[in-house]
Amino acid sequence: MRASRFFISTLKDAPSDAEIVSHQLMMRAGMIKRLGSGIYTYMPTGLRVIRKVEAIIREEMNKAGAIELLMPLVQPAELWQETGRWDKMGPELMRVKDRHGREFAIQPTSEEVITDVVRGEIKSYRQLPLNFYHIQTKFRDERRPRFGLMRGREFTMKDAYSFDRDLAGMQASYKVMFDAYTAIFTRFGLKFRAVAADNGAIGGTGSHEFHVIASTGEDALVYCPTSDFAANMEAAEAMPLAATRPAPAETMAKVSTPSTTKCEQVAELLNIDLSKTVKSIALTVEREMEGHINKENWLLLLRGDHDLNEIKVSKVPGLSSHRFATEEEIIEAYGTRPGYLGPIGTQQSVRVVADRTVANMADFVCGANEEGFHLVGVNWGRDVAEPDVADLRNVVEGDASPDGKGVLAIERGIEVGHVFQLGTAYSEAMKATFLDENGKPAPLQMGCYGIGVTRILGAAIEQNYDDKGIIWPTSIAPFELVLCPMGYDRSEMVKEETDKLYAALQAAGVDVIIDDRGLRPGAMFADWELIGVPHRVVIGERGLKEGNLEYQGRRDTEATAVPAAGMVDFIK
Ligand code: ATP
Ligand code: MG
Ligand code: MG
Ligand code: MG
Repeated sequence: MRASRFFISTLKDAPSDAEIVSHQLMMRAGMIKRLGSGIYTYMPTGLRVIRKVEAIIREEMNKAGAIELLMPLVQPAELWQETGRWDKMGPELMRVKDRHGREFAIQPTSEEVITDVVRGEIKSYRQLPLNFYHIQTKFRDERRPRFGLMRGREFTMKDAYSFDRDLAGMQASYKVMFDAYTAIFTRFGLKFRAVAADNGAIGGTGSHEFHVIASTGEDALVYCPTSDFAANMEAAEAMPLAATRPAPAETMAKVSTPSTTKCEQVAELLNIDLSKTVKSIALTVEREMEGHINKENWLLLLRGDHDLNEIKVSKVPGLSSHRFATEEEIIEAYGTRPGYLGPIGTQQSVRVVADRTVANMADFVCGANEEGFHLVGVNWGRDVAEPDVADLRNVVEGDASPDGKGVLAIERGIEVGHVFQLGTAYSEAMKATFLDENGKPAPLQMGCYGIGVTRILGAAIEQNYDDKGIIWPTSIAPFELVLCPMGYDRSEMVKEETDKLYAALQAAGVDVIIDDRGLRPGAMFADWELIGVPHRVVIGERGLKEGNLEYQGRRDTEATAVPAAGMVDFIK
């Protein structure tokens, strides 16, 4: 590829609506272009990354025995009515009508369609197991699309669906997919963690999420560094954790006696090391909200049910609190956006404060006032129903791991994949049966497996960037290597050497681009550093006179002189 014949369009500044690094850098690198809320054009450089992500997924899915097909984007409402999801999905499901007034869904996922395919095709247990997948556009009318490709409305997903004759078969298919996902995320070159995502209506662990580890992630992950235990916060909270604290119900009763020492008393009653708890909140908050927080006047930002308009802001102690009706009110009061309420004038994320653990912990630490114990800013009976005492039981760092093999740690992640044991819910609803060995009809045992293809781009960047731009892992980089000739159009020697090396690298299977745009070195380097190409070779007359080229890895602080003749071997 020659840069002069490709399309590169970089920006100095990110648009103001780009709140997190990956969104900012993708906009600046010209990888995506916004068309509407949560809807983007994948520009040529961005699309190259998407295609590489897809290629790795496709290879590993095929290797794992899954079979590719392609299901429609627009799906008849009747199928969705069969499973009840036409109503259950609510406003996230995008619905359209054709000229005859018939209703359709724009697919957010494809369980219904694949189950319809399979019920028409599969007759006998002899045809099983089967696993079908596709890589297809999805549409979810998200309540709050944001962060560029991270939470789009139109996005690309790889979704797979397995069909087995019995529970054991389904669990074996699930295991195969779990292992394929591990291989896929390893090949992406990203730090990731698989976590239990629910405790399994079907028995055992029914679901796992794959998360790319990043401090800006929306999800809290609970894990034990000294064992295999790992779960997302919701799953961890639902597990019978080793009792490090007294039962919440008792506690509620005791705390309802007013006290002047409030937090301390609550802490004592709940057997919580307040200094430790407070510290862990304070640390997180301080890092994110420097200057706003001190021990006397904590500003805690809580959000309810992922709806940022319901943010509650409280100062502790003193417990004054507000419920803001609109984002505008929050911006007016605090000079910054909800969800990103941070030091005024910066875009540092403080979502961590809205995280369930921290929020609930904060609720709990702050929740004692003259009237007893209750959640911050909430008047029971007026604002919300009576509290479920189980809500008081949160997972915090240092809790005993449920497996008894250590203590728990918490980190943040971005959900990039999800594998799920569905059982027979869909096959029963849609009467998708097969004939077993005794010739009796039985419902198919299903599993489903998703990967957020376009979200991977955002997640990879959140994990790999510096002040100059993106640092792509080589396996998914838009180009693996850029050749930067110094005077391609001026120096015969440089042109000749560059063209020779280009041909040799291509022959060696390296995805290489020549920057023949005639830019000054500074501007040229800045572009490629922003775009995040992991390897760069500079070809200049001075080096060539000594037979050398300059190699610099994207993370290297200095260039290395490499003999021109040995460059291909050096790269390989
Ligand atoms: P989330 O919790 O982030 O809303 P989800 O649990 O609703 O995701 P799934 O139904 O499990 O998503 O879909 C499989 C994968 O699709 C997710 O793991 C994620 O990587 C990706 N995905 C889901 N919603 C979006 C979105 N709005 N934009 C981009 N990718 C998405
Ligand atoms: Mg979702
Ligand atoms: Mg999720
Ligand atoms: Mg999910």
